[in-house]
This record gives sequence, structure tokens and C-alpha cells, in this order.
Amino acid sequence: MIFSPISGKPLITQGFGQNPDVYAPFGFAGHNGVDFGVPDGTTVYAPHDGVATVKDDGSSGYGLYLVIDEPKRRSILAHLSECSLVNGQNVYQGDPIGKSGHSGMATGPHLHWTYKIMKNGSVQNRSNGYDGAVDVTEFTRLWQDEDLHYDAEYADSAQEYLSMSFGSDQYLKNPSRTA
Ligand SMILES: [Zn+2]
Repeated sequence: MIFSPISGKPLITQGFGQNPDVYAPFGFAGHNGVDFGVPDGTTVYAPHDGVATVKDDGSSGYGLYLVIDEPKRRSILAHLSECSLVNGQNVYQGDPIGKSGHSGMATGPHLHWTYKIMKNGSVQNRSNGYDGAVDVTEFTRLWQDEDLHYDAEYADSAQEYLSMSFGSDQYLKNPSRTA
């Protein structure tokens, strides 16, 4: 299972394989990932578990970007405005990893996401025209930044529950809950 790095119903502004003419000079058969049209500062989430590597191309290439490596897969999340991780840090699926932006070679604010299949530490199918990147949109689950406690609907008879208070050993608090 792969989670969408953008919550809700994100707007895809460039799909995988689009614009072959634009990407031919880079040696690609087309766009080697998926672009999400999101404003600067949008929270980006880890699509899967892995180990973080934070890189910065400055004003070129991917700008500030994050690589998440697992033995069987790699994600690259590019053009970030900030990244809250350090190199070697473990990342877990659904963790907020930073904020989107338009760093590097970006025509405007968006999140670029590349996904590659790995085996024994190596990218597979590197000669596929996309340096091993593949389109995983059919396997990617959309989700919402919501939780059962705050975002569920409650029957009148269950409203009382919302005003009850519990000891810290009687409930699990979501530390990333901000609203
Ligand atoms: Zn892109």
C-alpha cells in the first residue's frame, strides 16, 4: 500500500509520462513522476516507510528534496520549502515530512513525486525510459487528514462522550493533530 503524499483529493497538474518533448533533453521518455498542484507550505506526507536522505540542489534541479529509501522502493519528493527530517532518520508511512514549495527548477508551486522499485539497494528497470521511475497512481491510496474522534459524526446519544475527560493512560493522543 502506498499513501498519497498530499492529503484530501489533490490536483494532479502533470501525470507520469506526460510532455515527452520537454523531457527528451534530460533523457526521459516523459515526466518521470507525478506533480501535485499545491500552494507553498502544504504539508507533505511520507508515502511509505523508509530512511530519509535530505538533499538540496539550490536553485537548480529538484531544489530542496527528500529521498525515502526502503529495501524495495524509493520515493523522491521534490521542490520543498522545508523538510523536518535529518539524514538517516527513520520515516513512517503517513508522517508529515515537510512543506511543499517551488525550490529548484520549478515553474510554480507544486510537489513532484517520483517512485522507483528497488532490489538489493539498486533501482530496477533503469532502462525503462524513466531511469526506473514507474507510475504507481493505481496503487496509491488517497486519504484525508482526519481522525475518528474529531471528524466522525456523532448520534445525539453519543454527544456526551465528546465532553468526557480521560486520564492520560486511558486514551492515545495524536501528537500531530493541529486542529
Ligand atoms: Zn514533476
